[in-house]
Amino acid sequence: MERGASAQNVFWLGLMVIAGIFAVLYLRSSVFPGPIDPAVLKYFSPQLVKNGRAYSQVPRILYIVGFLLQAGFLVWFVFGGCARRWQDWLMARTGQNYWGSVFLFFLTVWLVLTLLNLPLTFYNSYVWQHRWGFSTESLPAWWSDYFKSTALDFLLSAAAVLIVFWVLNRWPRTWWLFGAILFGLWLIVQDVLWPVVVAPLFNHFRPVDNPAITGMVHDLSLKSGVPVKDVLVMDASRRTTKVNAYFTGLGKTKRIVLYDTLLKFPLDEIRAVVAHEMGHWQKRHVLIGTVLGILGGFIAWRLLAFALHPWYTGAGRAAPQVWAVIQLFFLLALFVTNPVQNAISREMERQADQVSLQLTQDPQAEVRLQIDLAKQNLTDFSPPPFIVWFGYSHPTPLQRIKAMQGAGK
Ligand SMILES: [Zn+2]
Repeated sequence: MERGASAQNVFWLGLMVIAGIFAVLYLRSSVFPGPIDPAVLKYFSPQLVKNGRAYSQVPRILYIVGFLLQAGFLVWFVFGGCARRWQDWLMARTGQNYWGSVFLFFLTVWLVLTLLNLPLTFYNSYVWQHRWGFSTESLPAWWSDYFKSTALDFLLSAAAVLIVFWVLNRWPRTWWLFGAILFGLWLIVQDVLWPVVVAPLFNHFRPVDNPAITGMVHDLSLKSGVPVKDVLVMDASRRTTKVNAYFTGLGKTKRIVLYDTLLKFPLDEIRAVVAHEMGHWQKRHVLIGTVLGILGGFIAWRLLAFALHPWYTGAGRAAPQVWAVIQLFFLLALFVTNPVQNAISREMERQADQVSLQLTQDPQAEVRLQIDLAKQNLTDFSPPPFIVWFGYSHPTPLQRIKAMQGAGK
């Protein structure tokens, strides 16, 4: 017990120290973003670059404050002994009802974490987006979205709690293995069902009906060997003026989705977007991402089994407070592995850009697209290197432009 407990203490301390260092560096880069790379002024006006900086700063600060609040609460709750006292109180009040206490324990932790994040989410996705003229959403519509997504989160989290405690108690020694297997299956189910079950709760989708675009999609499909029949348009304009597109789904639910806000872009730029999404399709990025997620899941659940030992040894039923420890573990683990996840994502985006250029053979349109996207969405044209390394899922606009020009020469 003594030796085991000290190894776990070192692990938890190490995890918290790394997370703390990343959080401080992120906050510092957000508040003091440093000098602007003069190379961006070749493509964007100084005023636009200044605006991009100002617009990006607040969401970054809110993101890191949200993380610090949630992690801070859980660290205090778990390591300050409050989680144990709260669980004992619940057990006593429910007449030692185990599943009732597990559920009430989960419910209180979920409520605290959700309420801590609510003001930050509201400011970031409603107030800030309106201030910069991006949001087209009324306040009631925002709340309706918020309640829908929060209810979904609650249902999925509640199901996760019941399954995790069932697995813990059913397989006291090998629970982590079953946890990792179930997590992997969930990733696959989510990939298949998300586009057809979850996405339609928030948006309407219809096939593109513009013959110029459908003809172009057909051409690109023949060239790339990617069997895209339909490209879908999403009514993104009900929430935002921002422009985007994505590739999603697995198996029969694979699809390319364009924001309706993209349709006013020139045809050759839309073509570059569709070709980029076909790149994700051709290179099987969703599948690769899922396989990597499953492998990462096995590592994470094995580490969790080690880190959880002081709270759960496998003897007797898992105490309700174990849930708070599991939440803290995944919160910290996902946070500190952000650079790895994003490095993989940036590499996939680079590949999709390459495929796009091969398919369109039109570097001018590709470069113009990057410039128009960056302007329309007001990105940080010269983001701090640490923020890119830690948190960017895509290369910066300048990196993408340079790659297109380099390949076009
Ligand atoms: Zn992409």
